[in-house]
Order: sequence, then C-alpha cells, then structure tokens
Amino acid sequence: MSDAATRLIEQAGRKLGPKVVITDPNEIEPWLSDWRGRVHGASPAMLAPGSTEEVVEIVKLAAEYRVPLVPQGGNTGMAAGATPPADGSAILLSMRRMNRIRSVSADNRVAIAEAGVVLATLHDAAQEAGMRFPLTLGARGSCTVGGLTSTNAGGTQVLKFGTMRSLVAGVEAVLPDGSVHSGLGGLKKDNRGYSLDQLLIGAEGTLGVITAVALRLVPAIAGRAVAWTGLGSPAKALELLRFLEARTTHIEGFELVPQDSLDLVLKHVPGTRPPLEGRHAWHTLIEATTPDAEHDIAAELETLLAAAMERGIIDDAALASNEAQAEAFWKLRDTISEAERAEGQTLAHDISVPVADMPAFLTDAAAKVEQAFPGVIASGFGHLGDGNIHFHVRAASHAAPGWYENEGERITEFVDDLVTAAGGSISAEHGIGQLKRAELARLAPPGRIHALRAIKQALDPLGIMNPGKLVP
Ligand SMILES: Cc1cc2nc3c(=O)[nH]c(=O)nc-3n(C[C@H](O)[C@H](O)[C@H](O)COP(=O)(O)OP(=O)(O)OC[C@H]3O[C@@H](n4cnc5c(N)ncnc54)[C@H](O)[C@@H]3O)c2cc1C
Repeated sequence: MSDAATRLIEQAGRKLGPKVVITDPNEIEPWLSDWRGRVHGASPAMLAPGSTEEVVEIVKLAAEYRVPLVPQGGNTGMAAGATPPADGSAILLSMRRMNRIRSVSADNRVAIAEAGVVLATLHDAAQEAGMRFPLTLGARGSCTVGGLTSTNAGGTQVLKFGTMRSLVAGVEAVLPDGSVHSGLGGLKKDNRGYSLDQLLIGAEGTLGVITAVALRLVPAIAGRAVAWTGLGSPAKALELLRFLEARTTHIEGFELVPQDSLDLVLKHVPGTRPPLEGRHAWHTLIEATTPDAEHDIAAELETLLAAAMERGIIDDAALASNEAQAEAFWKLRDTISEAERAEGQTLAHDISVPVADMPAFLTDAAAKVEQAFPGVIASGFGHLGDGNIHFHVRAASHAAPGWYENEGERITEFVDDLVTAAGGSISAEHGIGQLKRAELARLAPPGRIHALRAIKQALDPLGIMNPGKLVP
C-alpha cells in the first residue's frame, strides 16, 4: 500500500469512524471482482459513507492525497467499471450504505432516492404510493440507483419509457473538487447551459460520485397482457412492432428470440415449455400494460395479434391466460444467457444499430461471423424495438477450453467492425468500463475521444475518479 493511501485511510478513520472505513480483507474481498468473475482487482480499504457529507470528506481526502476512488453500487455492471485496478492503487468507495428513499411524491411524480437504494426497493416504494418506476432488469434485486444512473441502464421497458437518461429528473453528486452539485429540484424546465445531470448520467463514476437521484414515476400498472408469437424473420418482427404501435400506445416490451435460443432454454432450464406448437424461425415476446383498471388490455392485444396473423405478419401466437403463464413466457426470455452458459462458451456483444437496419444487420452479421470463424454459432436476441440486440457468438462444439481467451478478442473485433460499419454502437446499454475501453479507443471518431478526454480533464484534473475506466 502506498504511503498516501495509508495516510488517507488513517485520516478517514479518524474523521469518519470504523463504520465508514473497512480494512478487513475478508469484508472487502467479495467486492473486488466483477459480476461475471472475469476481472479481479485489489484495494487496501473499502470506504462506505452513509451521507453526502461523508462523501464530501472522502473526496476531499482523495484529492489531498491523490489517491483515486472507485465508486461501486451493487457491482452488477457488465463492463467491470466498478472493479478497482489490480495493483491496489485505488480505494473502493461502496455506496450501499446510502440507501434511504428521501421522498416519494405521487403529485410531483418524482421519487428521490439515495445512490445505494436497490432497484427492487425503489419499485416497492413507488408501488406503495400508487406509482411505478418504469425501468426494470434482471439484476433488480442487487443493482442500485447510483449504478443504474452511472451506466445509463436500459432494460426491457425502454421502448416506451427510455433509458435512465429519460427517467432521471435530477442528480445530486459530489464533484472531484469536493463541491456538491444539487440537481434534485426536479425542474421540468431549466436551461442554464450545459446539463451537469446529463453529464453525470452514463459517466461510470469518472466525473464524480452520485449521492442521490430524483427519478420520474408513472402511474402503477392496473393490467397487463403478455403474448408470445412465432414468425418467419426479424423483418417480420419489426413489421409486427410497427403494426402494433400504429394501433395502440400500450406496448412496452417487445423482445426478439430466435428458435436457436429458445431450444437452448428448453434444453437447459428446468420447468420450461415451448409456448407454441410447432417450430418457428423467430419469436417475439410482447408485453402491453395499462394504468386503467377498466381497460381490457388482454382483449385489445388478442384482437391486434389476430389481425396481424390475418395479414400474414405472424404465423402463430399465444396470449398468457394468467400471471403464472405470463411469468413463464418471460422466463423463456430471461434465461437465454443462463442456458447459453450451460451449453458452453459464449461471447456476448451488447450492440445497437438504427432500428430499421437491425433485421438485415442480424442476418448478415451472423452469416459473416459464422463464415469467418468456422464452427461458431452466431445469433441475436433482445430489445429489437430499441435497435439493441445481444449478439452472442457460441464456441463450436469441438472448441477447446480457453477458446474464449484465445479467439475472443479477434471475434469481438470482427463483430465491432461490422457494428461500426453499420453506424451502430459497440455498447448499447452496458457501458464501456474497462472491458470495452480498447475497442472504444480503436473505433470511436477522434473528435469524440478528444471531447471525452477534455471533459474528464476539466472536471477531474487530478484523475481521482475511477481511473482506467471509460475514457481512453
Ligand atoms: C442479471 C443482470 C441483468 C442485467 N440486465 C441489464 C439490462 O437489461 N439492461 C442494462 O442496461 N443493464 C443490465 N445489467 C447491467 C447493469 O448495468 C447493472 O445492473 C446496473 O446498471 C449497475 O448497477 P450497480 O449498482 O450494480 O452498479 P455497479 O456495477 O456497482 O457500477 C457500475 C458503474 O457505475 C459506477 N457507479 C456505481 N455507483 C456509483 C455512484 N453512486 N456514483 C458514481 N458512479 C457509480 C461504477 O464505478 C461503475 O463504473 C444487468 C446486469 C445483470 C447482472
């Protein structure tokens, strides 16, 4: 441990006490690797502030001793952004003790939650007030408001409600000079120049520490309908989405699933059953919701799907007849990654291209990858309506252990080149962290990289906020 880090930890201990300054290696150890277990870091201490004032103290100490901080929420991020460097040169800043919901206002349609509030807790608090926070994802039992904001997370409701960028009304954060930015007023209109709130959203902890967030709420769901369809191609799936959107405003989930992924789920995930009779090259999972208890949303979706079938857009459809069946349909979608892991080695790419181009991209890119790397299986599933697909490449059945490490980089570069040529993004919703930094440096236009570096340098000239992440 460096002398500077030792002095910082001593000072923090004196000022903030043992509740905040954790040096027991056994307590720190579980938080030193990323969620996928691929990146391992080290840290001489874990600081766990319980208030904004304590974060201010910590940031000022970090600036004084020039010891960097790595903010961490639930540590569920997919780009290893919350994993400290392996040389132990940075200190882990756990935000999980800042877990108070400061207010929920149905009238203002805003909840103010501290950075360490877990998403599922926020859902419950909104529900109690007859409202809803309309963003959800698989890690909802662990991921935090600070992490969701810092990664501009998406999830399955983006189609209707957008990513965190649309759902954050304001941010409170401690900036690298120890000053507090207070943006929690929730003003609908505020044109005082650059938006610091928007700059902090998606900054992955490189520009400051988010301590609390004002989050937009919508009325609670009174009814939902979930359907599964079978169809011939991704182009038909997009046609179906546009057909539905032209006739209802209630669609909020629209997921694309290839037969190949469904087969893996049925093979590996206990208790799953095919939702339709017969096989279809592609499938969609559709969720429609309504805040109006009088509105028969199931009947509306059923009528629309029957019309889509009559027009030859879909080949078959099943509407969940109860909540258990609706959950069973979602399980088929949510367990694809788990089923892939059970099958063998998989390379995951979270990519986006313009929505209208996604069907052609999916078909072309899969064919090109399979041709360039004989034996692999490439396919995509996910948020078609957002132009965001999880494009996964599975190892050939004969692949030796180590395929991921040996071939991974070459295949990822190949995929990222295709995405870039299509005008897309190599990170649709998971961020850059440390895992995609080299690819960002390789593929981003020089102007973008220059701007990222200039903003970082302006706000964090000492480089104390999450070094080695996001900014190439
Ligand atoms: C099963 C599963 C499903 C997922 N599904 C989705 C999905 O559908 N869509 C999607 O977008 N993402 C998804 N994710 C990843 C998603 O990014 C994270 O779940 C979530 O946004 C990260 O929250 P966290 O609290 O765990 O943050 P962490 O992993 O702890 O941190 C993530 C980044 O934010 C920074 N950070 C954390 N807290 C703060 C703070 N208070 N101030 C400043 N910086 C901070 C960290 O330094 C790091 O760079 C999924 C993850 C899992 C495990």
